[in-house]
Amino acid sequence: MNAGQKLPAIPTWKLKHSKELLQEAATDPATFNRGYRMLAVSPGELKFPSWSKCVQQGLTAGELMARRMPAYVGVDLAGKKRPGNAIVVIGADAMLRRCLLEVRFGGWRSPETARQLGEVVARHNVSWIQVENNGYQEALIDWVKESKLDFWMKIQSFTTGANKSDPEVGLPALEVEFHNEAWIVPGAEFQGHPPACGCDWCRLDGEMRNYPKGTSFDGGMALWFARDAVSKWAPRRRGSPFKGRNFNRR
Ligand SMILES: [Zn+2]
Repeated sequence: MNAGQKLPAIPTWKLKHSKELLQEAATDPATFNRGYRMLAVSPGELKFPSWSKCVQQGLTAGELMARRMPAYVGVDLAGKKRPGNAIVVIGADAMLRRCLLEVRFGGWRSPETARQLGEVVARHNVSWIQVENNGYQEALIDWVKESKLDFWMKIQSFTTGANKSDPEVGLPALEVEFHNEAWIVPGAEFQGHPPACGCDWCRLDGEMRNYPKGTSFDGGMALWFARDAVSKWAPRRRGSPFKGRNFNRR
């Protein structure tokens, strides 16, 4: 090679990354962030940006449980495509704030789900248990009856469908409640855990923070069924400061 010869003008990166093409790619922010900026999610895509506002530092679930609030249980059952179950327990305080008391995940069959629910009923002052009705619910109630567990009459079924995205009753209503700080999440149960922690509290926290971009939302659905039970059946107190304001009741 002749040392004095000028090198050909070779771009330092592939032409698919030319300025023009990058500018064009940037017009689709979600794809651009994933493909070019190594950002999986942009904040505007997340549905529950206010979830973190409700996480109270240093608060334990035990402190909330000690108040013996009436508790409402949501159960997300495994479907044909999903192996996982989730149970979320919410206490409703005098102002109808939703206090997260417990979360459980597991790949349970019906007898084990019934046993898990029995443990939950023994630990909390449970008023109602709302179970997703995906056809397995009858089997679950049968197991509860056969096992002589005494909470079968507290189980209600919940059919998901169009109501999931209804702004009044569906998931968008959750964000309004988080924004109004109508939820109390015991941060001591998961804050400070390593990023890859797989405990039930970290999993629920991750599902809520990342929805709808996370890999699962079983706990989020159970949380929603429990919240729906609170809004339908929690006793309304006279003179509640939230009366007629932030809390939709049907
Ligand atoms: Zn954890």
